[in-house]
Amino acid sequence: MSLYTHILIAADFSDHGHEVSHVAKQLAEQNQAKLSVIHVFENIPIAEPLYAPMTFDADIAEELMKNAQIGLRKFADDLSVPEERQWFELGSPKLEIVRVAEENQVDLIVVGSHGRHGLGLLLGSTANGVLHHAKCDVLAVRLKDD
Ligand code: AMP
Repeated sequence: MSLYTHILIAADFSDHGHEVSHVAKQLAEQNQAKLSVIHVFENIPIAEPLYAPMTFDADIAEELMKNAQIGLRKFADDLSVPEERQWFELGSPKLEIVRVAEENQVDLIVVGSHGRHGLGLLLGSTANGVLHHAKCDVLAVRLKDD
């Protein structure tokens, strides 16, 4: 019996991203579920007076965004995820991951977990944020660098 029909991988392109995608791909195959990938590009404050005198070049921001889009394409292509299920969003990772999951009837979100302690836990990681906001199941794959 298939438990899941649509699995969403939250990809941050860290060195350990393949651990997350490996688990998600296996689960998708076992459940004959659709696989989607999301990467959220966090907003960069361009020419934000709060950060003066440091200014952020708009060209650099655009370059970073382009690289992130290329990163997503490569990550998803390696998993044979079709273009229509590759989500590139701007904003808060936890909120965008949860929104895209809800809007696309995702029933399992797979994220990596660094198992942070202390201040990191207080501030809340993306994994924690997704876990607390998502209406569907969330699998946190414990990353090996802990
Ligand atoms: P973090 O809480 O930032 O250590 O990240 C934990 C996990 O959240 C990562 O392994 C990814 O699965 C996911 N994640 C973090 N940042 C992003 C992002 N910008 N876009 C998509 N997923 C992310």
